[in-house]
Amino acid sequence: LVRLRARLSRSQNVFGKGLLTLLSRDHLDEEVWEEIEDALIGADVGVDATREIVDRLRERTAVLGTRTAVELRTLLAVELVNALDPGMDRSLRATPHDGTPGVVLVVGVNGAGKTTTCGKIARVLVADGRTVLLGAADTFRAAAAEQLTTWGSRVGAEVVRGPEGADPASVAFDAVRRGIELGVDTVLIDTAGRLQNKVGLMDELGKVKRVVEKHGPVDETLLVLDATTGQNGLEQARVFMEAVDVTGVVLTKLDGTAKGGIVIAVQRKLGLPVKLVGLGEGPDDLAPFEPAQFVDALIG
Ligand code: GDP
Repeated sequence: LVRLRARLSRSQNVFGKGLLTLLSRDHLDEEVWEEIEDALIGADVGVDATREIVDRLRERTAVLGTRTAVELRTLLAVELVNALDPGMDRSLRATPHDGTPGVVLVVGVNGAGKTTTCGKIARVLVADGRTVLLGAADTFRAAAAEQLTTWGSRVGAEVVRGPEGADPASVAFDAVRRGIELGVDTVLIDTAGRLQNKVGLMDELGKVKRVVEKHGPVDETLLVLDATTGQNGLEQARVFMEAVDVTGVVLTKLDGTAKGGIVIAVQRKLGLPVKLVGLGEGPDDLAPFEPAQFVDALIG
């Protein structure tokens, strides 16, 4: 939590600024609502969600007879947590079943942080005493397999890769087969994400999934989104959601944005749980997403 707090400190500034002005008021007036609205929109919460949050906040403060900025801040925190649908299932489905490994597909646009996220997830699982195999099905970007291999040796996971330009589906198939052979708990598959060739990308991901399913079900398809791309990232997300059944989101680079409110927009617009957040480039910079902790870190 301390790390989350420190890393989100930049996000904190955006809300923090609005809240500081708010806290210096001795009574609440109309302007307060505008300030909260500005702070939320400025933090990329999105216009619709902001309006809803502020409307609910107005209602609650009227009912409760809220007078002070401190009370208002507490209510705002409650509304932000509610907007993140705290009851959603955010567990990572990666455990073995019926003698086959749990299979996780990792998808997203190039540069979003897929390969890094695969490495970080592997690290968490291995630290938890589980065995992991990594599949380098991003055969388009030459460096990707290399990068994944580095992560593999760093965390203690075998990596299955094909020759450059190999069919991603065949690498994914081989990875799961090898995972079964070794009896590992989890197979994580890194995929390619060339958005400029939308049809090709969708075909490719669909094929990767179908081929892997010859061995057994895909348990989790994680969409990796770069938090710094803000609302634009949501459009990209839809392309991936059309290609495969995405089951959860990993929001990366939250350490590098002043707009942490994007988490709210992502969940609301995509209807998918944010399961993990990336808070840096290092192996330990991945955290499970906890709405209450997140809001706490965000509004300080
Ligand atoms: P891919 O193309 O989707 O596989 O993306 P990569 O995993 O290669 O990541 C692209 C860049 O983003 C790399 O320089 C990573 O170190 C960096 N990166 C990934 N996740 C995070 C994160 O949570 N925070 C920061 N600051 N950088 C990240």
